[in-house]
Amino acid sequence: MNFELTEEQKMIANAAKEIAQDFPPEYWREKDEKGEFAEEFFKAIAKAGFFGIVIPEEYGGSGYGLTELLIAMEELAANGCGMGGIWYLMITEVFGGLSIVRHGTEFHKEKYLPKIASGEMEFCMALTEPDAGTNTLAIRTSAVKDGDEWVINGNKVWISGADRAKGMLIVARTTPLEKAPKRTFGISLFLADLPNKAVKINPIPKHAINYSKSCEVSFNNLRLPENSLIPPKDEGWYLLLDTLNPERMGFTTAAVGISRLAISKAVEYSKKRKVFADPIGSYQGLQFPIAEAYSTLECAKLMNFKAAWLFDNKASYREVGKYANMAKLVAVEAGIKAVYWAMQVFGGYGYAKEYDVERWWREINLIRLAPVTQQMALNYVAEHVLGMPKSYR
Ligand SMILES: Cc1cc2nc3c(=O)[nH]c(=O)nc-3n(C[C@H](O)[C@H](O)[C@H](O)COP(=O)(O)OP(=O)(O)OC[C@H]3O[C@@H](n4cnc5c(N)ncnc54)[C@H](O)[C@@H]3O)c2cc1C
Repeated sequence: MNFELTEEQKMIANAAKEIAQDFPPEYWREKDEKGEFAEEFFKAIAKAGFFGIVIPEEYGGSGYGLTELLIAMEELAANGCGMGGIWYLMITEVFGGLSIVRHGTEFHKEKYLPKIASGEMEFCMALTEPDAGTNTLAIRTSAVKDGDEWVINGNKVWISGADRAKGMLIVARTTPLEKAPKRTFGISLFLADLPNKAVKINPIPKHAINYSKSCEVSFNNLRLPENSLIPPKDEGWYLLLDTLNPERMGFTTAAVGISRLAISKAVEYSKKRKVFADPIGSYQGLQFPIAEAYSTLECAKLMNFKAAWLFDNKASYREVGKYANMAKLVAVEAGIKAVYWAMQVFGGYGYAKEYDVERWWREINLIRLAPVTQQMALNYVAEHVLGMPKSYR
């Protein structure tokens, strides 16, 4: 067992740290308040080659794995960017790049990967539906063959980055649930080019992460060429798990990175702030919960790297899912505790936008709900790891 980062991994971590220093919390505060896309940051990570980390060299990337992408994400987040350090890489490189690297056809790889790697093409993933939610297999968006085209109809919700993306991974049913021999059958994946007038996109005003829009999307007879399907038809669920597991790992990394950032700012402040005789940082009432959350986060981080290592070494989706879900569960609880106590350290100032911790609080709370809720992650562990009976229908 070797826990040492390789020279290349150290280089990626250092490059991420350097970039993050050019985009400090004030930058993200302004972007979040104005609801503006972080264009300068996006260009900087594109220039550094970060959108190509998981993309093979022959398609313009650097040919590393998910492990290296998580290292970059964590250092960006922890050194000033918060969720911003994760978000754009997630929706473009994981939803687009990684899905295509793992399961795209040669045609898809040649068409999309070089543009994703260079940062020329933003991506998004349209999975969640208003009436299905967490019950993903109950999605109703349909893809029906008409001649040599697919015709897509249906509604999606919360699709992050859809307002700007030039590419979209669409999850649709090619066999309706009622006709499927089992629930996982009948899901297929498609790659669509945007914009398209058959796709209506409406941003949803939201609590945080306003440097990216999350949108309602409707498909009204969207016609796609035959080769937009990622084969095999009807078996897309198992392909999608190679996107959803890394998504979980990316958001565990967000919990770790945002917490590291909030804790470091709180520790710095706590050493200076005096209201009685000694700095507030000397009080165990503040030290213990932060020390505990930090320790738990370090454990979650190790487990997350185990999940990433399994993924990079092509372990089964079940084996990867086991560690990805457990790491996510633990990281989110500890991360929420970490940011809660960081905010407490700032006292009343924690409530002021100027100190940023209130924004990290809003950001970290997303991870309770997305990409998978804490309850569904617990269901996964109970059912698929421990073999307990399924508790819901
Ligand atoms: C800001 C944001 C960005 C997002 N970006 C994307 C994106 O880019 N692409 C995309 O496809 N989706 C995206 N999502 C969607 C996200 O993945 C879903 O919101 C999430 O999976 C939860 O689904 P839901 O909101 O429908 O909750 P629901 O499924 O309605 O769940 C509501 C509550 O019921 C609980 N619950 C439901 N079933 C059970 C059960 N069996 N046992 C115990 N508890 C249960 C849940 O845990 C939850 O607490 C995003 C969401 C947000 C908020």
